[in-house]
Amino acid sequence: MSRKVRADVDLNAIRHNYRLACAQAPRARAAAIVKANAYGHGAIAVARALEPEVPAFGVACIEEALELRAAGIRKPIMLLEGCFDEAELPLVDSQDFWPAVHSEHQLCALEQAQMKSRFPVFLKVDTGMHRLGFAPDQVPSMVERLQALSCVSEVILMTHFARSDEPDQPATAQQIECFEALAGSSGLAASLSNSAAVMAWPTAHRNWLRPGMMLYGATPFMAPQPVADQLQPAMTLSTEIIAIREVAVGERVGYGGTFVCERPTRIGTIAMGYGDGYPRHARNGTPVVVRGQRVPVAGRVSMDMMTIDLTDLPEARIGDRVELFGKQLPASEVAPWCDTIPYTLVTCLTPRVPRYYHHE
Ligand SMILES: *Cc1c(COP(=O)(O)O)cnc(C)c1O
Repeated sequence: MSRKVRADVDLNAIRHNYRLACAQAPRARAAAIVKANAYGHGAIAVARALEPEVPAFGVACIEEALELRAAGIRKPIMLLEGCFDEAELPLVDSQDFWPAVHSEHQLCALEQAQMKSRFPVFLKVDTGMHRLGFAPDQVPSMVERLQALSCVSEVILMTHFARSDEPDQPATAQQIECFEALAGSSGLAASLSNSAAVMAWPTAHRNWLRPGMMLYGATPFMAPQPVADQLQPAMTLSTEIIAIREVAVGERVGYGGTFVCERPTRIGTIAMGYGDGYPRHARNGTPVVVRGQRVPVAGRVSMDMMTIDLTDLPEARIGDRVELFGKQLPASEVAPWCDTIPYTLVTCLTPRVPRYYHHE
């Protein structure tokens, strides 16, 4: 006997999605972004599945990079935010980690370190996101300082978009224009594109793509998009119905009594809750799938359980599998019901959810 919560991860879908990213920019290289435990999918399993075809991986911090090395992953690993302190530099030197440099203090640390190896450095430019990176007018002198270091094999200019998931907004075109004003004549390689830009902003492809979310098969766009429509969801989160009851008109269901039965209602209780990472703020009406049919969440999500309205699915039984999102129900359809984006639905799953991997 065991609790029936599970996340099934289709590694073939991840390979398909990676190839779809590459196909958008055949002359560029694509670093597979596997930070945050590969957006909850399992960094080691995902990296092993992709390693034969990727030139590099990308992670948020050195702990994530070391986890991949400990598992035997050998390809270069980009540190998207660079080093958080200079004690990390010996590992950059010995482990084939490719650091970003986004600030004066990181550059100083690199200038003062005694490095033996040579590696590319991603110089981060702030073209409008205003989170990390050098202002454009500082960049030429930073490039010069990096090029003076014997450990730097190549300077790659990098920037990140704030609104590339909004194809109708001019912000991304403005960021590209700002970036190209610097990079265009520099002769340096460039890296701009997250998933949304890989799919929707071909002028941002340049030399290195950085697809993350799209590898896992969820669209960052609110509307249909021709490339995103070809993505295959990699993770299916599911559980089982553990109880069913009839609840009378006027009765309330769950903590806070937020769901009121307006008809004789057949409530199913399922083994999934915010302790598994499913968002507590999923509203009444959030879809789940039972026997191929969408049925609504009814009542607040609690830590280990949630309740769903099975009135319109009389054939539902205890033990039926319930899909929270995945192959039958895109995470991008569920996310707005929880005031969030598909990124958090997959990334926030807790270790209590066992992951099962499929290669077929
Ligand atoms: C996370 C991240 C990415 C990937 O973004 P997606 O929207 O998931 O494709 C790319 N670049 C940087 C710098 C990041 O931090």
